[in-house]
Amino acid sequence: PSDTGRVLSIQSHTVQGYVGNKSAVFPLQLLGYDVDPINSVQFSNHTGYPTFKGQVLNGQQLCDLIEGLEANDLLFYTHVLTGYIGSVSFLDTILEVINKLRSINPNLTYVCDPVMGDEGKLYVPEELVHVYREKVVPLASMLTPNQFEAEKLTGLRITSEEDGREACAILHAAGPSKVVITSITIGGILLLIGSHQKVKGQKPEQFKILIHKIPAYFTGTGDLMTALLLGWSNKYPDNLDKAAELAVSTLQALLRRTLDDYKRAGYDPTSSSLEIRLIQSHDEIRNPNVELKAEKY
Ligand code: ADP
Ligand code: PLP
Ligand code: ZN
Repeated sequence: PSDTGRVLSIQSHTVQGYVGNKSAVFPLQLLGYDVDPINSVQFSNHTGYPTFKGQVLNGQQLCDLIEGLEANDLLFYTHVLTGYIGSVSFLDTILEVINKLRSINPNLTYVCDPVMGDEGKLYVPEELVHVYREKVVPLASMLTPNQFEAEKLTGLRITSEEDGREACAILHAAGPSKVVITSITIGGILLLIGSHQKVKGQKPEQFKILIHKIPAYFTGTGDLMTALLLGWSNKYPDNLDKAAELAVSTLQALLRRTLDDYKRAGYDPTSSSLEIRLIQSHDEIRNPNVELKAEKY
């Protein structure tokens, strides 16, 4: 793999604030990628605010965009990135898109953040879980679930590091050679677990990164994390631990900056979810200073 590429990123767009494509496109561009965003929704702001308004793209409209690209021979992609998807019909269309892109580039890397929920709560229709499990996971090259999503996809309850590692192994058997559980909370400690199965059927190489938990709630962090994991793991294809160190380091610096800015402006950072300071963190995206090291198992 080369250290750059052309990424088709199918995610949400918000007019104001940073979630979905708004938090994925800019960092990938900074890391040197051509990024072609398809906005699966266009909302005024993210759904954590009291209200939002906007439009939702349906499966047929996604097909139209792909047909337009195809008619001009513009369907060569090195990567596809998907995040929050709100309906089974849209997810089914994405599966068709992946298959079509793979027929054009058999080396296509599909990076999937199986966004379904967090902290025990599902925020997509229940039918989606089955589609992710049976149809999406098998097509993914890299999967970046959080703790709750890893549980939904494997049927395991994850209450220890061992459980996290086992969940990764189950997910490898279903398809993706790279799995990163972006956060697991065990006894108040935040943990990332990464797993790379370099040869199908063999034991994966696994690692963890201990993360200092910042006492605030941020939106868009999962979307940013997955974009950075795509960007760095393509540059270091055999060192998922290094890619994760770089991604986590950017996240930590950016979240610290976000918290500092809110405090300086006199806001109580625990009162509501905070918008990340993405643009202001361009240096930390391009050249992260690795403070948190991965520990191999
Ligand atoms: P999701 O939004 O998909 O649930 P996570 O909560 O796993 O995503 O967050 C992704 C990454 O963002 C984590 O790996 C971590 O590096 C960072 N992060 C998110 N929230 C915090 C926090 N409160 N303190 C420290 N790091 C955080
Ligand atoms: N609102 C909208 C419209 C989104 O698309 C997303 C995620 O993509 C969120 C809120 C929450 O983002 P996150 O789970 O990364 O915090
Ligand atoms: Zn997420």
